Amino acid sequence: MENKDITFYSHGACNEVTGSKHFIKIDKDIIQLDCGMFQGRRKESYRKNLELNFSPAEVSAILLSHGHFDHSGALPIMVKKGFGGNIYSTSATRDIANIILLDSAYIQQKDLEYLQKKANKYPDRGLTLRAPFYNSQDALDTMGHFVTINYHRDFSPVPGVKVNFFDAGHILGSAMVCLNIDDKMKVGFSGDLGRKKLPILRDPEIMPDLDYLVLEGTYGNRLHDTYGMAKEDLAKVVNRAYKRGGKIIIPAFTIERTQELIYILHLLVMDQKIPDIPIYVDSPMAVNATSIFKIHPECFDKETFDNFISVNLDPFGFNQIRYVSSVRESKKINEHTGPAVIISASGMAEVGRILHHLRNNIENPANIIAIVGFMAEHTLGRRLVEGFKEIKIFGKKYRVNAEVKTLNAFSAHADYNEIKEWVKQYDLKKLKKIFLVHGEKEALLSLRKELLSIGVNDVKIAGYDNTYELEY
Ligand SMILES: [Zn+2]
Repeated sequence: MENKDITFYSHGACNEVTGSKHFIKIDKDIIQLDCGMFQGRRKESYRKNLELNFSPAEVSAILLSHGHFDHSGALPIMVKKGFGGNIYSTSATRDIANIILLDSAYIQQKDLEYLQKKANKYPDRGLTLRAPFYNSQDALDTMGHFVTINYHRDFSPVPGVKVNFFDAGHILGSAMVCLNIDDKMKVGFSGDLGRKKLPILRDPEIMPDLDYLVLEGTYGNRLHDTYGMAKEDLAKVVNRAYKRGGKIIIPAFTIERTQELIYILHLLVMDQKIPDIPIYVDSPMAVNATSIFKIHPECFDKETFDNFISVNLDPFGFNQIRYVSSVRESKKINEHTGPAVIISASGMAEVGRILHHLRNNIENPANIIAIVGFMAEHTLGRRLVEGFKEIKIFGKKYRVNAEVKTLNAFSAHADYNEIKEWVKQYDLKKLKKIFLVHGEKEALLSLRKELLSIGVNDVKIAGYDNTYELEY
């Protein structure tokens, strides 16, 4: 067999957590792993997302690990710029990507309208208006490129390369990608690595022994509480607020975290660990996302199968739960007196209906605001976590009299111990090198040290646009 030139390089999620775009080039064939959107300051994200330093038309195929926006959000940009190949993913990932891309197109359009209004109002500020990255039609055109395939089924995106998806246990449909090149070498990509015992999902799998591994390190320097505590913690919060006659307000990401909360609350109701109170899921996107979960029971773990699917029960449907899509219904929640759980978006409490619920409930000391997700800097969610006593919502000041409780057990990313335990299961003598991506610089530096300490041969923090040769 003749020699092949195989290289690995990244155009995103290098020393940062957004914009995942990694590439394995095998002679002339280019396989792209993920196609995430850069998020951050408007101007910078505009430049990073649009100024691609490669030609999308030259990419042979894209393998999508999961539907999260920072992994899938730039797919329509690729298609608009000439990518003509297949996008391979599991079918649940395809469905999640579908609602994420359409939602993003809508937000971009709203964003432009907002800026346009502002520019008209303040013509002397010289605001720059930029066209959206893509519109709804572009998102739908992108969906036409998807080819879905289940876990553990061989497929061949380019000649000589056999690929398999393995369950990453991170969100519904999430996959790790194992590329088998000529039955001679294997390159693995972790995607986002999940955790053991997450509700609904199976535990992260192990790929076959690898020669190279591209590994995420979001929490490369952090430890979480075990997930088992999430259920207990949530029950405590609900019971405490209930005794005070208060409400529990939970800002939550619409995909995965919201369904985990619904699922755990359902179990708590079944076990009579929490009182019989209404649980509102107030977000049209969360309602849509939950319907995707319902049609993908093939992605559920054994516990979910045993408790629900095998006895023909819906994990996401029970007496106390009320899904709210329309604005009118959403406003009616304000009239509800007495205890209730309200789950709403956005996850970091920056925009969306959660702001109305916070505004209406934050000054009442009987209420609890439960924090169950990562809150980035400069977000309202972060200010709540940091214990601000006064916050602004829609330009008006409110006293934070409600109890703010952070539940640390909720996280869909492995922490550094979990990553180490997962890596240890591979034949470390065979594993030539690990490339670290998808993490802030400090997290990756710390994770690098940890991985070397368990005997990994070589750990490289992938640099933006640096090309690394892989031994064939
Ligand atoms: Zn993710």
